[in-house]
Amino acid sequence: MTKTVRTRIAPSPTGFLHLGTARTALYSWAYARHHGGQFMLRIEDTDVARSTQDSVQQILDSMLWLGLDYDEGPVYQMQRLARYHAVAEQMIAAGTAYRCYATPEELDAMREAQRARGEKTHYDGRWRPAPGKQLPPVPAGVQPVVRLANPAHGHVHWDDLVKGPITISNDEIDDLIILRPAPESAPEVAPALGIPTYNFAVVVDDWDMRITHVFRGDEHINNTPWQINIFRALGAPLPQFGHCPIILGDDGLKLSKRRGAVSVTAYQDAGYLPEAMLNYLARLGWSHGDDELFSVEQMVQWFDGSHLAKSPAQWDPAKLAWVNAHYIKAAADSRLAGLVQGQLATRGVVVDDLGLLARASALFKERCSTVVELTDWTEMLFVPVGPSADDLATHVTDAVRPALQALRDKLAAVDWDKACIAAAMKETLAAHRLKMPQLAPAVRVLVCGRAQTPSIDAVLTLFPRHTVLERLQGV
Ligand code: GLU
Repeated sequence: MTKTVRTRIAPSPTGFLHLGTARTALYSWAYARHHGGQFMLRIEDTDVARSTQDSVQQILDSMLWLGLDYDEGPVYQMQRLARYHAVAEQMIAAGTAYRCYATPEELDAMREAQRARGEKTHYDGRWRPAPGKQLPPVPAGVQPVVRLANPAHGHVHWDDLVKGPITISNDEIDDLIILRPAPESAPEVAPALGIPTYNFAVVVDDWDMRITHVFRGDEHINNTPWQINIFRALGAPLPQFGHCPIILGDDGLKLSKRRGAVSVTAYQDAGYLPEAMLNYLARLGWSHGDDELFSVEQMVQWFDGSHLAKSPAQWDPAKLAWVNAHYIKAAADSRLAGLVQGQLATRGVVVDDLGLLARASALFKERCSTVVELTDWTEMLFVPVGPSADDLATHVTDAVRPALQALRDKLAAVDWDKACIAAAMKETLAAHRLKMPQLAPAVRVLVCGRAQTPSIDAVLTLFPRHTVLERLQGV
């Protein structure tokens, strides 16, 4: 019988949901859904000094927005301290972990001496019990840490789903701290109880949550040997690991805040659609033939853990905009209307008429890569426009002024629909011996504040008649 696939994403709430984490969340989610398994959310909030409730909320909101639904969780590590303590005690009793009373000063001196001897710094095992070994006397007033008794020999090996086989010698890794006294910044945690370190909590949780596959960023490859040794010490089944390469910025350096937006929320605010983000993130490190545009359902159908890229992908804003433009065109106008309404509200423009916003979206969406661009177009329906001096000088010339006035008079009287507006324009052109490319840009500049728009008769129907008349007045 094959085990049910269970995956998870385990962000630390020390900021927003990073795009790299969103991508591994997507892979974990899609892998679970592909196999009919479960996907879990765990909040790794043991860094008490840096974790915030605000950040937890951002993570939850981002997951919701992306539509990455989880079957269990959120599980909060800080609510599981008793469990980590129990497991640490169990390991101490079994001899796979031990208390270490070395003070920070003592450890500094130890490392200093190692450096002076030209050695790589490492914990020297001074508190590690061994048959016949005399341990130092327990000093008074020192809160101990708990360390893993890492196997002294042999090696750790795993077949990484992304990187392939990886082997690390146990000589290279020392006795990791798995539990340390609570810091002063966490007065609610009794110091004696202590706080688990990342590598310990992650293993206890992955074990308890019966996680079968772990997808995460490759910055954790160096942690994996310790984690595997802790799983072994606990007699717990090992999940399979898949370490995805980092995402590079368009300058080839690690994608970071300093070099542009890195959070899911920033893209939401900038008018990207969640399905576009999922499509783009999916392709950034995974492929299905040459397919560039695919639905999330297709991804779930295809995502079996193969074809994950071994080398870093580069963030490409132009490609993301192209993908988003595709989804904007495909989106229902009524949905875009709601999104534009939200964006307008952030600009202080309150609009209730969703029908109008839907008609505007239908007309403008072909030209837009983001909902923000769509909002830029739509805003002219509600706020005064400021045509540039250049546009005015180029298009609103003495040659067209009389025609503009005549058109205004006609528009004051016609039925307010596309056909009648088009007829009024044609009649004006004929009467003034002008061509459409002379009159239309002038109308656009005055009414819309820009010289290019979709078909002007269609655009004018979006405005209330009085607004068009006002903007054409006195030219
Ligand atoms: N809290 C870790 C992180 O955000 C989780 C890594 C893991 O998935 O094990 O990087």
